Amino acid sequence: MKRDQAIIIGGGMAGKLIAAAISPYFHSVLILEKDPKPENKNTVRKGIPQANHIHALLHAGDQALERLFPGFQNDMVNRGSIKIDSLKDLAWFHHGVWKLRFPSEDSTLLQTRPLLESYVEEKVGEIENVTYTYGIKVESFILTDDHSGVRGVEILQENKTKTIFGDLVIDTSGTASFTKGWLAKLGELVPEEKVDIGLCYATRKFTLPEAPKDFKIKIIYPDPAAKETMGGTLSLVENNQCFVTLNGYLQTLNPAEVKDAEGFINKTSCLPLPDIFEEIQAGTSETETAIYQVPQIRWCHFERVSLPDGLLVAGDSLCRIDPVFGQGMSIAALEALAIGDYFAAASPMGDMKKLQKKLAKIIAPVWLMVISEDFRYEGVKGKKPIGLKVLQWYVKQIFLLSAKNKTIYKDLVKVTNLVRPPTILFKPSTIKEVLKHK
Ligand SMILES: Cc1cc2nc3c(=O)[nH]c(=O)nc-3n(C[C@H](O)[C@H](O)[C@H](O)COP(=O)(O)OP(=O)(O)OC[C@H]3O[C@@H](n4cnc5c(N)ncnc54)[C@H](O)[C@@H]3O)c2cc1C
Repeated sequence: MKRDQAIIIGGGMAGKLIAAAISPYFHSVLILEKDPKPENKNTVRKGIPQANHIHALLHAGDQALERLFPGFQNDMVNRGSIKIDSLKDLAWFHHGVWKLRFPSEDSTLLQTRPLLESYVEEKVGEIENVTYTYGIKVESFILTDDHSGVRGVEILQENKTKTIFGDLVIDTSGTASFTKGWLAKLGELVPEEKVDIGLCYATRKFTLPEAPKDFKIKIIYPDPAAKETMGGTLSLVENNQCFVTLNGYLQTLNPAEVKDAEGFINKTSCLPLPDIFEEIQAGTSETETAIYQVPQIRWCHFERVSLPDGLLVAGDSLCRIDPVFGQGMSIAALEALAIGDYFAAASPMGDMKKLQKKLAKIIAPVWLMVISEDFRYEGVKGKKPIGLKVLQWYVKQIFLLSAKNKTIYKDLVKVTNLVRPPTILFKPSTIKEVLKHK
């Protein structure tokens, strides 16, 4: 049974992927995006400044995109994405050790976010009953007469306020979301978990005279045990270019110091290893330094409050996770599939509260994994989960064993790529290895 109209607030990755996933179950899906239409598909819009930075697509995101847009991987390679062997071509230095590298059957696509996002936008544009409209800012929700549900939104378009009605409104407006504040005015306080990480990203694109010989992407994480706080990544992307990104926790990366090319390159010499600094010596910097600050990460527990019927919150509006682990778009893709599957089975509108709980279940294990890593840095503030020390100890052994044990590393890759739950790291054979290792 088809519902009438779904309204999606925000046309970022979450908004577009959810629109594609629910389109078979609604007569029309309307995506409302506040930004004006970008000049071309390489333009990074004002509403998504993070698109200037490296955006990894994990296996879970890759598989979800393949399901939503069959032929996705081949299409992306034809457009310039670089397909790499996920284990052989990734050089990953983490907790002071290099992870193993060997040929595998897993592949990863490397590209800039504009290349990926413009593909998704094109594909969503081909879906007959989905309309993507730029230049519309959603300002509020419209409640039903008895205030039990949401029946549309109030928008601002060309300085005029208008209303649009729909059976379902999904908020995917990212960190700018007004839903939490709007609910507070109705007396509904959304509990949230916050962790102060003081993270700063700085990115430049480079052209290298020669592509690196022995890797396609190199990630150097800081080791909190050695009091390091700054990591860096060099990743090949389309058009024979590469991204170099620095990320410093706890305000240790000062944007002023990396503003110009010289300052940026010098800063790469302060990474735990000199590899990236050495690699870009002969390169040419092609862009200004893009900066993005993430003072804190936040998970708003909309599933714990009494949300009006017909309202759902997803993507970064629901949870902004530490971007260093490259999970945000893949979480959004998993949410999109879950929402699509829900409407495929539910009749007629289903219970949005149940669906909001399903989204929380996608986030919970990832959030725990991420905050237990973030809390390794002394000075990161927030509510620590129960059993944190034991979890951190165990997971660290897994990370260290991934430098020598293929089976454990393969399982870790499945978990970090969000295709298997973290519980697979607690198999009896793995626990035995961990205990032997200590
Ligand atoms: C520095 C950085 C690096 C990252 N790296 C990665 C990575 O490597 N891999 C990965 O998977 N993820 C990464 N992420 C996370 C990723 O960017 C997000 O999780 C992802 O974009 C999902 O976002 P979204 O669609 O929910 O929100 P967004 O992408 O922020 O989109 C929200 C949209 O809503 C629009 N909007 C806002 N308010 C309104 C309104 N009132 N009305 C209408 N429209 C509105 C905005 O203009 C925007 O287009 C990174 C994030 C950051 C900050």
